Amino acid sequence: MIDAQHIRKSYGSLEVLKDVSLQVAKSEVVAIIGSSGSGKSTLLRCLNHLEVINGGSIAIEGLTMVASDAQGNAQYKSDQEVKTICAQMGMVFQQFNLFPHMTVIQNIIEAPMTVKKMRKEDILPLAHELLAKVGLAEKHDFYPSQLSGGQKQRVAIARALAMQPDIMLFDEPTSALDPELTGEVLKTMQQLAEDNMTMVVVTHEMGFAREVADTVCFMDGGVMLEVGEAKAFFDKPKHPRTQAFLSNML
Ligand code: ADP
Ligand code: MG
Repeated sequence: MIDAQHIRKSYGSLEVLKDVSLQVAKSEVVAIIGSSGSGKSTLLRCLNHLEVINGGSIAIEGLTMVASDAQGNAQYKSDQEVKTICAQMGMVFQQFNLFPHMTVIQNIIEAPMTVKKMRKEDILPLAHELLAKVGLAEKHDFYPSQLSGGQKQRVAIARALAMQPDIMLFDEPTSALDPELTGEVLKTMQQLAEDNMTMVVVTHEMGFAREVADTVCFMDGGVMLEVGEAKAFFDKPKHPRTQAFLSNML
């Protein structure tokens, strides 16, 4: 579903991703862990073209979005092709980014109507279904300000799902939440995983990574330092820096 190879990304002279590769299979859940500043968000943002890469290649569901030329410089496909490819991915951010002046249901139907040009009556049934799925059926007419952080994040998940993506990217979806509200969001994500959604999740929730992820990737200083099957990764981390990171987290 995702084949990212040898990604290089710099901000000015700061090289943030140094030859990072990531492969994600259909229905696989990949957790990306690592210290703050290691490049996790940048990698996720490169995957769906919120950032442009300097070198390497990214293919989504077999379609190449960007590849390096003979000089090693990243060459993107046309804007239209990139847009079509990225439409297969939904993203959920740490700060929910809901539209404050819209109700919950309006938030969910907005992108399908404006981006996909769907008619309101065609998207509403799915929107209500998704809202029920995240446990918020009765909140459809609430405004974001009337919801808890956990509820807002679950709306954000429903909103991303309303675009019917094949892949969901999560960037620390529970990091802005009070500890007692993380569970409801993680449970929603776990259900999504059980429904066989392909997911890439940047997280500090080691319990979630261990229990829900198939694969865990440890990033350190812009490098993908260690990748492993989740249980083995936590039971027997190989690299000393992975071991040090985990002993601080657990
Ligand atoms: P993480 O998500 O693992 O905490 P980030 O991908 O956000 O890490 O950041 C990696 C590095 O890139 C950090 O040193 C950060 O300061 C830098 N960085 C991130 N975004 C930008 C930007 N837009 N401009 C300049 N530097 C950035
Ligand atoms: Mg980040």
